[in-house]
Amino acid sequence: MSKAAKKKIRKVLVVNSGSSSLKYQLFDMEKEERLAKGLVERIGAGGPANHSEALKKVVEDLGNPKDIDAIGHRVLHGAEVFKDSVKVDKAVMAKCKKLVKFGPLHMPANLGGIEACQQIFKGVPNVAVFDTAFHQTMPDCAALYAIDPKYYKKMGIRKYGFHGTSHKFVTQAAAEFLGKPLAKLNIVTCHLGNGSSLAAVKNGQCVDTSMGLTPLAGLVMGTRCGDIDGAAILSIMEAEGLTPAQMDTLLNKKSGLQAVSGVNGGDMRDICANAAKGDKAAELALEMWAYRVAFYIGGYNTVVGGADAIILTGGIGENSAEARERVVSRLGALGVKLDKKANAKTRGAAGVISTKDSKIPVVVLPTNEELMIAKDTTRLLG
Ligand code: AMP
Repeated sequence: MSKAAKKKIRKVLVVNSGSSSLKYQLFDMEKEERLAKGLVERIGAGGPANHSEALKKVVEDLGNPKDIDAIGHRVLHGAEVFKDSVKVDKAVMAKCKKLVKFGPLHMPANLGGIEACQQIFKGVPNVAVFDTAFHQTMPDCAALYAIDPKYYKKMGIRKYGFHGTSHKFVTQAAAEFLGKPLAKLNIVTCHLGNGSSLAAVKNGQCVDTSMGLTPLAGLVMGTRCGDIDGAAILSIMEAEGLTPAQMDTLLNKKSGLQAVSGVNGGDMRDICANAAKGDKAAELALEMWAYRVAFYIGGYNTVVGGADAIILTGGIGENSAEARERVVSRLGALGVKLDKKANAKTRGAAGVISTKDSKIPVVVLPTNEELMIAKDTTRLLG
C-alpha cells in the first residue's frame, strides 16, 4: 500500500472491558503518549446497566471527543483462530463468539465492549488484541498435553498461555534495550504480578509459556496454585464432595500465596513484611514462589538455547527488590549474579540488576499492555 493510501492513526482509545468494570486509556500515537485513563465500575451491579451505558460514561469523561481514529480492545482468548491482533468486522465477531467457551467469564464482556464501541463510535475502526496470540508460535511439543489426542481435536484442550500482550511488549522493549534485532533475540520473560507467567522467546517468537489451557497453570500466584498434580485435584474433590465449580474456586481464588501465607489476596508487599517479622508461613510462601520462578527460568533457558537476557516485569517484577533477590539468588548454576545495590534501587523503571560479569543479564523492564494494544491497533490500521 502506498503511503498516501494509508490513514493516519493518531488518537487511539484502548478498552479493557471486564464483566463488571470497563478500563480505558486514550493515547496520542504520534508521541506514544497517554492522554487520559479511567475506570467505570459496577456495571450491572448498581452502576451503568450494561457496557453500552458504561461506554457512554467514558465518552462523557473524555469530553465528547470527535477525533478518535481507532479503538483497540483487550480480548482474553483467540484460541488457534487468531494468531495476531485483527481488525474487527462481522466475520471476526462471529469467530470470536465461537470462542466464548474458552473464557465464559471474560469473553462476553470483551465482545460486549466491542459492540458498544461499534454503536457509539460509529465508523471508527476497532481492533481486537488477544491475550493468547503471542503464544501461538509454540511448537506442538510444548503446546500439547500428553493425553488422548481426541480431547485436543474435539475440545481444543491444549496450552494457550496468557499475558501475551505483556510478554510481547517486553520482548520488543528488550530488543531495543539490548540493541539486538528482534529476529535474533533469545530471552526468558517473567511477568510477575498477582497473576504470573513466564515465556520462552526464541528468535523473537514465543516457544513456550507457563500458563496453560487456562491461567491456572505454572507459577505460584496471588490466589492460584499454579502447577499441581491432576490426581491431587481429583482426591480433594472426592474427599470433600466438591463440584467442578467449587474446585475451580478453590484452585483459582483460594490457593497460591494467599493459602500458604494466610495473607488475604496474597499481596507480595504484605507477605514480605510478614516474613521480615519472622512469620514462618510467609517465609515458606516466598520460598515456594521464588523456587517455582527460578525452576522455570532454568528450564526456559534451555528451551531458548541459552538466553541473551532474563526480563522481569509486572507489579512484583518491577517493584519488589526482595522478591527479585529471592529468584535471582537461585540462578547461580546459570552463572547469573545479582547486583544487590542495583536491585535495591530499581523500582518501576528499566534497569539491569545483575553484575557486569553475570553470564546472563537480568533486566527489569516495565510492561505497558495498554500501549501494546494501541501500537497493534496503529500497526493494523495505519
Ligand atoms: P500486578 O498484578 O502486576 O498489578 O502486580 C500486583 C503485585 O505486585 C502484588 O502482589 C503487589 O504486592 C506487588 N507490588 C506492587 N508494588 C509493589 C512494591 N512496591 N513492592 C513490592 N511488591 C509490589
